[in-house]
Amino acid sequence: MAGLDGESLESLRALGHRMLDDLFDRLEAQGRGEGPAWQPTPPDVRLALLDEPLPAAPADPSRLYDEIRERIVPYGINNTHPRFMGWVHGGGTAVGMLADMLSAGLNNNLGGRDHAPVLVERTVVRWAAEMLGMPPNSGGILVTGSSIANMIAVLTARRRAAGPAVRVDGVDKRLVGYAGATAHGCVARAFDMAGLGTAALRVIPCDDRHRLRADLLAVRVAEDRAAGLIPFIVVGTAGAVDTGAVDDLDALASFCAAEELWFHVDGAFGALAALSPRLHPLMAGLGRADSVAFDFHKWAQVPYDAGCVLVRDAPSQAAAFAQSLAYLSRADRGAAAGAPWPCDLGPDLSRGFRALKVWMTLRSFGTDGLGRMVDGCCAVASHLAARVEREPMLELMAPVPLNIVCFRVTVPGRPDLDDLNEELVKDLHESGIAVPSTTTVGGTRVIRAAIVNHRTGPEDADAMIDGLLALLDRRLAGARPLP
Ligand SMILES: *Cc1c(COP(=O)(O)O)cnc(C)c1O
Repeated sequence: MAGLDGESLESLRALGHRMLDDLFDRLEAQGRGEGPAWQPTPPDVRLALLDEPLPAAPADPSRLYDEIRERIVPYGINNTHPRFMGWVHGGGTAVGMLADMLSAGLNNNLGGRDHAPVLVERTVVRWAAEMLGMPPNSGGILVTGSSIANMIAVLTARRRAAGPAVRVDGVDKRLVGYAGATAHGCVARAFDMAGLGTAALRVIPCDDRHRLRADLLAVRVAEDRAAGLIPFIVVGTAGAVDTGAVDDLDALASFCAAEELWFHVDGAFGALAALSPRLHPLMAGLGRADSVAFDFHKWAQVPYDAGCVLVRDAPSQAAAFAQSLAYLSRADRGAAAGAPWPCDLGPDLSRGFRALKVWMTLRSFGTDGLGRMVDGCCAVASHLAARVEREPMLELMAPVPLNIVCFRVTVPGRPDLDDLNEELVKDLHESGIAVPSTTTVGGTRVIRAAIVNHRTGPEDADAMIDGLLALLDRRLAGARPLP
């Protein structure tokens, strides 16, 4: 019995080679900036995708691939394209793609047990700690992304503050934590999911460079203590999602040490700036954190999904997740050995071999290569910011410490600039020229370009601005936007 692989393995082999060739062709074309940065999924394709009935009968995979090429490939979010600058999306690499294919083919389960892939993950975690200046014996695991990494950190800190009873009896409503106003929404959601409630996350105002104000943090912690509450965690942000602002991590680390608070850093994309010798000073204090959440799928260009949580005191992570002390004494030999297992360090039991694409990315490019790429993205952001400052119709809306540029179109006398900028970004998306996103900075809607993709060059930033200004002209002339 050949199972589901069956007789078709030979023809599937040929199909696999074709897929791989197509993927390389696509990467080459995207590297040259060909094709639209995004295009909407046409109504008939949408319907076809959504109405596809549950298949009862088998179908030929090569026909399915034709369908995929026609209906899915062209209408992806397209973050591999050099003029995709929205949100914080990594561009992926050919090396990462190949490693992910290998992982899928090998189909290892990294929940635990004794096998080399788990050792690869442990090594990747050790490298990550070294990259960010954490001790080499820090604990950690790979996860889907920083949302889960932040949640694991909150749960680990919660367990540390509240003792083992919190895992049996539930949360103490007196526990409170702190983050700056620029903290990512997933930090509040982590508080929600941890049963603490979002109100238990105190939002501390930021300074004019969008950094958490440590003086106000100290006041709030003192107030909460005086009110009988139990402050337990401070979340610093290394690379705020709106502007790229980096909190004063060193000051926060010192404050947390003095106040005996858990210091967590959300460095989803920004932590990778530690690899650039030029930007490294911005990350001072990162290595003093009790835990760090960051993504390999953003600035490290590993294909989705690959996030990472690091915990300075490794046993405290197991204390928050392992279901009994038996995790320390699995079988002494055989496939069930190899304790402790990754499943004791987070919520997942079954886990894929994400570590391979991270391992292969780090080994292929080295931290030097990745550091140069990070610098390159920041250079494009500087180029874009300088262009914005030269254009009379554009205004820079926030400092540019890293790779994110917030700006907007200004037209003297127009009261609806928020709407105008919002509409222009939609025009830009539909034109296929470029994909920035929007956000709110200081109460104002702004256009936001995050240079996270290693393929993006200064010419792409210029193409985005040229396109934007052309679309603005059309709108001001009362014409309909480009089809
Ligand atoms: C992207 C991001 C997150 C969430 O990470 P995911 O990998 O999308 O779950 C958290 N914090 C910041 C600052 C981010 O940029």
